[in-house]
Amino acid sequence: MDNRMAEALKNLKANNFDAKYAENAKAASQIVLNTIPIDATVGVGDSATIRQIGILEELEERGNRILNPFTRELTTNPKMLEVRNEISRRVFTCDVFITGTNAVTTDGKLVNIDAVGNRVAAMIYGPRKVIIVVSRNKLVENVEEALYRVKNTIAPYHARTKKFPTPCAETGRCHDCSSPRRICNTTTIMEKRPWRTDLTLILVDEDLGLSWDEAWPKERINKIKANYEAVTWIFTG
Ligand code: SF4
Repeated sequence: MDNRMAEALKNLKANNFDAKYAENAKAASQIVLNTIPIDATVGVGDSATIRQIGILEELEERGNRILNPFTRELTTNPKMLEVRNEISRRVFTCDVFITGTNAVTTDGKLVNIDAVGNRVAAMIYGPRKVIIVVSRNKLVENVEEALYRVKNTIAPYHARTKKFPTPCAETGRCHDCSSPRRICNTTTIMEKRPWRTDLTLILVDEDLGLSWDEAWPKERINKIKANYEAVTWIFTG
């Protein structure tokens, strides 16, 4: 673990999060399996990181009930939109909610920007237990850097991959648009753990999900993009 990650881990703990270190995706999955009781119902917030670590399949295989509104089946059939919405609402009362975060700051804050808002809402209150998996490439210095990166790197790439008709998908930069398909509708900054939510955050020492600093070597950035695209598809529902 490098100094920056150690600093983030220390500050996340100081901010009352149950923060844990995982050296790679496999170790992160093991922490999740050890944290979730076998009889728990697990709700899912859309996250490339969660898909990449393969934890949902492992949980289902051992007998956990999964509430996932973001399966291929549900997201590629417009007739299933109401079913998706219904499952998304039921997620608020599940035993454990698992998702990712757009960014974590070295002073221990979680920064997220959501299109629908179901992911950020369930992170804050609803499910009794929340597990957030976040990788080293999402670690940023402060909230300002987090917001800049989400708006000018992550959102444009996400919009382009998902074929959302937003100006950032064309230019690669945020235009603070009013597009009907704008994906930046709710911004949350979780400064400390909310009172009534038992929140475990797993910091993974491996690149996962969608985030990079434009100054990083092209090879690293391209690998992050390719791994993200491998678990991402266009939602038509
Ligand atoms: S506000 Fe609009 S242009 Fe800016 S990143 Fe979000 S979707 Fe793209």
